Amino acid sequence: MYKYVLVLVDIGKLGTKTFSYLVPDELKDKIKIGQALLVPFGKNRKIKAYVVGFSNYLENGIKAKYISEILESEPLFSLEYLKLLEYVANYYFCDIQTVLKTALPQKFFEKNLKKYRKPNIENKIFNVGKKEDNILSNAQQKVLEDIEKIKPKNALIYGVTGSGKTEVYFKLIEKTIKEGKNVMFLAPEIALVSQLTIRTMERFGVDSCAIWHSSITEAEKYEVWQKLRKNEIKILFGARSCVFAPISNLGLIIIDEEHDSSYKQSMPNPRYNATVVAQKLAELHGANVVAGSATPDINSYYRAKNSNSLFELKERFNNQAMPKVVVVDMKSERIDGNFGIFSRTLIKNIEDTILGNKQVILLINRRGFSTYTQCMSCGKVIECEKCAVPLVYHSKDNSHKCHWCNREIKNLTKCPDCGEENLENFGVGVQRVEEIAKKFFPEAKIARLDSDSLTKKNEHIEILNAFKNGDIDILIGTQMIAKGLDNPNVTLVGVINADLSFNLPDYRSSERGFSILTQVAGRSGRGEDLGKVIFQSYNPENIALLNAQAQDYEAFYENEIEMREQFDYPPFMKIVRIILSSKNEFRAERASLEIAEKMKQYIETQSLSEKIIVLGPSVCVLEKIKGEYRYNILIKNALEDKGHEIILRFLRTVILPNDIKMVVDVDPVDII
Ligand code: ADP
Ligand code: ZN
Repeated sequence: MYKYVLVLVDIGKLGTKTFSYLVPDELKDKIKIGQALLVPFGKNRKIKAYVVGFSNYLENGIKAKYISEILESEPLFSLEYLKLLEYVANYYFCDIQTVLKTALPQKFFEKNLKKYRKPNIENKIFNVGKKEDNILSNAQQKVLEDIEKIKPKNALIYGVTGSGKTEVYFKLIEKTIKEGKNVMFLAPEIALVSQLTIRTMERFGVDSCAIWHSSITEAEKYEVWQKLRKNEIKILFGARSCVFAPISNLGLIIIDEEHDSSYKQSMPNPRYNATVVAQKLAELHGANVVAGSATPDINSYYRAKNSNSLFELKERFNNQAMPKVVVVDMKSERIDGNFGIFSRTLIKNIEDTILGNKQVILLINRRGFSTYTQCMSCGKVIECEKCAVPLVYHSKDNSHKCHWCNREIKNLTKCPDCGEENLENFGVGVQRVEEIAKKFFPEAKIARLDSDSLTKKNEHIEILNAFKNGDIDILIGTQMIAKGLDNPNVTLVGVINADLSFNLPDYRSSERGFSILTQVAGRSGRGEDLGKVIFQSYNPENIALLNAQAQDYEAFYENEIEMREQFDYPPFMKIVRIILSSKNEFRAERASLEIAEKMKQYIETQSLSEKIIVLGPSVCVLEKIKGEYRYNILIKNALEDKGHEIILRFLRTVILPNDIKMVVDVDPVDII
């Protein structure tokens, strides 16, 4: 029998922490992992705590107290669940408490939950009808049958936009439910979750579905959590954090748009990738995983191709034609005297589309009004004091915002350096596109959708519904509108600056750019009429842009995989990125030099310098954020899990002074 029970408590600002308690003998065999207890804490206080383990030793030699009582005898999570969190903590180099904090709704730690009303999100937002099953096309049927043949199932569906991947998912879901098992359905963005949610609920009924993502309240999460534990939910829908929902009896995980980088949490810890965690979760449950995308992640495609788990839908459903994509060279527009942000081709096409009662999507992958503000008297570019990046002007609330730390200056009229009232905005953001579009097309109904326009909770759903109902002629937005929209009346998609996504100094920028352009192109022509797409570019010779124009993923993949192999990038080598930062530039640099040096020596002593390569340190592309100077070290590893374990073993030995912070990002989605 154990001596102490380890419990998790919420200690306020600092997050959650585990403590040891004694258990009265008569309760010892009643305590289970995941149970809620009441424990004495501090002076005369009793708080809620969750059982996460047992031990015979006391850490720190602090005298342990007895628990007060068992609050709920039914556990809220299982041992299996803790194993998943342990895996995440270990793989992503952080402690399990951080993972638990991400995973558990904060409401878990409140003593009295009665005051929360029973949530009813599904019916509140949607008016869900009932739809019958579609009959699969031959191509869809073949993919379905092929997937069912492989065991264990870990399939990737590469299907062009509009090829009917969702219908294949539905059949797989249906089958899983028939076998008495439950389904987790992951999708990357809120807006997309909603569209897919409606379709799924129409098919499988509102009552068997639940939603789990960042925009539902903690009280709602807690409610869903309880239902999941009682096995009352058949399909759980959600974004990234959904992989931590305590789903029981899991049979299938669907990962839609699996390439999407929002599956990866880049900040803060745990910097996990939900697609990786989903694989592990499936493994623990003996469940299947089926991922899908029109532009698969290069690594996933490589893996699937080499393990006979790649399935393809190369044509659109119903033999619908792929949209026709035109690249407009903006350099020649300028030579012809058009210095505006709309090319003549785009203007003409927008006019024709609206006259024909069809709808338009315009993509500009940049928030705010402009890209930077400069003083025309002294030349100063207005920057964030804490981050070495320009502040971005937002016209809606007349403010200059930092997109990195969210600091803002309201009503800036004078240059902070020379005091002159001579500020000018340069570059194009989504708000400027909206403003100019309203001037060009005064008759058209225009709406904007980006993360800044979402002030009300369900605003994006309202905008998307209005667009679907034809109440909006032109929808302008950032990458939010590039995915998932299935609106048959859209026949024109315009990309204002197709070069933007390619310009980041990052090894994945081609992949990201190709993916966004191909995805947004895929929103066009999903009805009876042929779709058209216009990419405006200052660099129309860019290969990835041309691949996107041809909507040829395989050609893109062939180029990209060659580059990755040549330069030792994933999937050929795994990357761990270490960022060291400090308010003191010199100390940040010195610490990173020391760590890189020690790391190199450590690898050397293991005779692994060929297989594990330490690069750097170098100054980060974003060299200063929130007042901290940043240096990074990249570690490339050709030994998969074994190499990863060696890297982590070294990192555990690193001890840093208080003024230096270390971030470890495993499999980073960018390295800027
Ligand atoms: P994807 O997810 O690959 O982009 P969707 O599943 O959204 O494609 O399918 C594109 C369109 O074709 C949708 O409007 C969908 O309803 C329709 N569709 C796909 N498969 C079928 C089918 N078997 N029967 C009827 N309609 C279908
Ligand atoms: Zn800032």
